[in-house]
Amino acid sequence: MNGGTLAYEEALRIVLDASARMPKQDCATSACLGRVLAEPVVSHVELPPFDNSAMDGFALSGDSSAVPAGSELTIEGEQAAGDGVSHAREGAWEIMTGARMPDGLDRVIPVEQTERTGNAQCIKLLADVESGQNVRRAGSDVGRGETILAAGTALAPQHLMLLAALGIPKVSVATRPRVAVLCTGRELVDDPATPLAAGQIRNSNGPYLVARLPLSGAEVVYAETVGDDATAFESALRRALEAGAQIVVTTGAVSMGRYDFVPQALENIGATTLFHKVAIRPGKPLLFAQLPNKALLFGLPGNPIAVAVGLRFFIEPALRVMLGLPPEAPRRIPLVASYSKKPRLRFHLKTRLHIDAEGRLGAEILGGQESYRIRPLADANAWAIVPADIDALPKGALVDVYGPSHFEFPLPCESVA
Ligand code: AMP
Ligand code: MG
Repeated sequence: MNGGTLAYEEALRIVLDASARMPKQDCATSACLGRVLAEPVVSHVELPPFDNSAMDGFALSGDSSAVPAGSELTIEGEQAAGDGVSHAREGAWEIMTGARMPDGLDRVIPVEQTERTGNAQCIKLLADVESGQNVRRAGSDVGRGETILAAGTALAPQHLMLLAALGIPKVSVATRPRVAVLCTGRELVDDPATPLAAGQIRNSNGPYLVARLPLSGAEVVYAETVGDDATAFESALRRALEAGAQIVVTTGAVSMGRYDFVPQALENIGATTLFHKVAIRPGKPLLFAQLPNKALLFGLPGNPIAVAVGLRFFIEPALRVMLGLPPEAPRRIPLVASYSKKPRLRFHLKTRLHIDAEGRLGAEILGGQESYRIRPLADANAWAIVPADIDALPKGALVDVYGPSHFEFPLPCESVA
């Protein structure tokens, strides 16, 4: 502790300890994008489900040695994708990509490596054909009984492709934590069509949180904006809990101003404040509490970048625990320029990752780090962390970098000269 201010690591530990694993539920595979597997997925079938041709060509039989170039074979049948079991004895079967291999045939020669002889029912091979050549074996992609996806996998489209290919209709996933978003501030205007009166601003934190929380694995069940009024806040909180919120995220009114009523309001309703103020920038007045019904409340300061940092570095780690995701490890990436800051606070910096002309990855700490400045956040593709006890870093120093989302770390795709 430092004058009542917790180090980030201590504060995070309190958050993680208060975060309980969600129960699991079945989810239709068609609706499981973005959900986190609660149990591993095991395939009970093989992929491909049957031996099939990798090419358009001719399926042949033979022994362990190659059927030699120059051989002439009679065309005995045709097998297209979707055709069922066929029994072949010998000769050649015209076959299409993906068609089931006729029983008795074990190799395929591509059509380009054959020519028709004078007899329309005959082909001549222009290359040797080995046993198994151009055949996709049953089970060569996924074997029966194989674990294909581990518990804790955040399901992305490529996972859905695999589940679909295997015909897995449902999976066991972590229930999504239910979250409410309450924005405070009498200056806030929600409706973008309403002109601003003098002194008013538009609510940007609310739309950010409502857009982002589902991408972090949560379900937003309630959102409301209230003025700087403890009574209105307390009734909004009640509505949020009635909507089933297990996490309440508030923005604004946790600092030292005259209208920063959230700490007092929480005390009034019997909440337990687990900490208030963390040695970070931005977002130092962050508050974390447990409500009488055990729901968690994150009281984020109102500045938009404090909200983004509170979500990224407190709420999302809590969601990871609740969803059964493994802890996140930062990447260590060199700074493209020196950086200095004041000591004693851990800084979370809007950062852009670049690949330079030599292919080297670097982190550029963007200008405009003030917590009210939203535009550099839109330019950022990562967060760089400079620990509390460090005040200067030379160009090339390795810094901890986190991706913009806890589900994935974007590889920077643009180059700078
Ligand atoms: P507060 O933490 O309530 O003192 O607010 C800090 C700053 O953030 C003030 O400049 C507020 O006007 C601004 N602010 C508070 N809430 C929001 C919001 N929902 N959207 C945009 N700015 C906000
Ligand atoms: Mg305020």
